[in-house]
Amino acid sequence: AWYSKTWTWYAGDWHEGNPPIIGPRSHASWLGSTVFDGARIFDGVAPDLDLHMARVNRSAKAIDLNPTVSTEEMVALALEGAKKFESGEALYVKPMYWGEGEGPGTITTDPDNVGFCMTLFEAPMAEPAGAAVTKGAFRRPTLETMPTDAKAGCLYPNNARILREARTRGFDNAVVLDMLGSVAETATANIFMAKAGVVHTPIPNGTFLNGITRQRVIALLRDSGVEVIERVLRYEEFLDADEIFCTGNYAKVTPVTRIEEHGLQPGPIYQRARELYWAYARDIAA
Ligand code: PMP
Repeated sequence: AWYSKTWTWYAGDWHEGNPPIIGPRSHASWLGSTVFDGARIFDGVAPDLDLHMARVNRSAKAIDLNPTVSTEEMVALALEGAKKFESGEALYVKPMYWGEGEGPGTITTDPDNVGFCMTLFEAPMAEPAGAAVTKGAFRRPTLETMPTDAKAGCLYPNNARILREARTRGFDNAVVLDMLGSVAETATANIFMAKAGVVHTPIPNGTFLNGITRQRVIALLRDSGVEVIERVLRYEEFLDADEIFCTGNYAKVTPVTRIEEHGLQPGPIYQRARELYWAYARDIAA
């Protein structure tokens, strides 16, 4: 199989592998009503697992699906699922809801006919390679044009085409602008820059995900005495940054090592953010 070792909780049981659970009459397979979240279990800890599980329930509501599993139940399920793997194995935890009912002819979901699964799979926490980024060819939609307040599957074909286009030009990722032309995030993560020892990051304006890792890293940096300013940022400011780094649940904190033709080093603020995150994880393990 193309996938790593995987266990999925669905309809009251754990299933190994990649069970076919969304059928051709499901709203989700035809009209795209899926929401998901992603969290990590590694080094014996699951940082902010509860926040990720709470968010998937908010995401479900945002696309008219009534969540059927509580945050506490999801946290318990994730920890139960983790026991199916070797201890110490780094895991990815992905809860997901989708629309089962209604669909063609009505296009709306049936809010009470909702599927749920939670998938856990092996995903090593690699030391991050630096990414080369360019300006994305497509932009983030607004809340008026897409459910940007949800971590919804329907948002990701846009991110995928941004990423694909950037890769055809030899970059690893793209800086994605919002509809006003301000920097929003990358195609896969939130973005930060450092200039003269101060950290700047786009202020949430409803177009991009206010990431859980983003909020954690901002709090950790501020607690450690680093000034972090959330504001409207132009792309040109990133071209002139001392450091650029990204945050996301999958790899946590990762450096950008080139923007367009400008090379960058993984710098001291990036290093600090990454170390603070791991110290935070060790703290909750203790
Ligand atoms: N933006 C996008 C488009 C993402 O896919 C992710 C990863 N979920 C993030 C930002 C980071 O969010 P979080 O830290 O909550 O994972």
